[in-house]
Amino acid sequence: MTIASPVIVVIEDDPAIRLFLRTGLGVHGFKVFEANLGRQGIVEAGVRKPDLIILDLGLPDMEGVEVIKAIREWSALPIIILSARSTEQHKVDALDAGADDYLTKPFGLGELLARIRVAMRHSVGSPAQEQSGIFNAGALKVDLLKRQVFVGDGEVHLTPIQYRLLSVLIKNAGKVLTHQYLLKEVWGPSYRDNSHYLRIYMSQLRQKLEIDSTQPQYLLTESGVGYRLKV
Ligand code: CA
Repeated sequence: MTIASPVIVVIEDDPAIRLFLRTGLGVHGFKVFEANLGRQGIVEAGVRKPDLIILDLGLPDMEGVEVIKAIREWSALPIIILSARSTEQHKVDALDAGADDYLTKPFGLGELLARIRVAMRHSVGSPAQEQSGIFNAGALKVDLLKRQVFVGDGEVHLTPIQYRLLSVLIKNAGKVLTHQYLLKEVWGPSYRDNSHYLRIYMSQLRQKLEIDSTQPQYLLTESGVGYRLKV
C-alpha cells in the first residue's frame, strides 16, 4: 500500500526561495505546488487541496494577511508564514488572522520541517493524547481529566488561572500563540491589552514547572509575538 505524499502550496514571489523549498521539501517526500502572487496562491489553495500552506508575507499583489483571511473563510488548513520583515507587528497580525506559525528569513530546512510536522500533527489532532487525557513533555506531565500537574514524580499545585493558561498552551502545543490570543482565551476579550497579566502568570508558571525559570525548557518566549509550549 502506498501513502499519498502530503501536498504543500508555496506562495512566495522570490524564485530562489521557491527553488529552495521545492527541492528541499521534494526530497522529504512532499508534493509542492507554487504560486508567486497572492491571488494565484488563493486559487492554488482551493484547487490542489493541500495539507499545508507556506506563505510569504511580502507579496507583490496583496498583503499576506489578506491571503490568510481569504483562505480562512473556507479552510482551517495549517498556514506557516515566512517573514523577512524586521517589525514584529506583521507576524502578530498574520498569527491573529489565523496563521499557525512563522519562520523569519533566513531559515534552515531542518527548522522548517520541524514546524511543518507540528502544524500537520496539530491539524489532524492528537487522538492518543485526547483519549488518554495525558500531556507529556520531558519531565512535565499533565492529567487533563483530573487536572493534575506533575514535574517528575512531584505534583505541582496551580491556581485556577495558572492552570487555565497552561491548558490553553497544551491545547495548542507546539504552536506560537500571540499575547492577544492568550489574554482573550484565559481572561476574556476585554483583557486583550493587559499584557502584564500574561507576563506575571507566565513567570509564575515557569517558577513552578521549569527546572530553571530563567532558562525555560517548555514555556518558550517568542520575542515580541507571544509564547509557545515546546513539544
Ligand atoms: Ca516576498
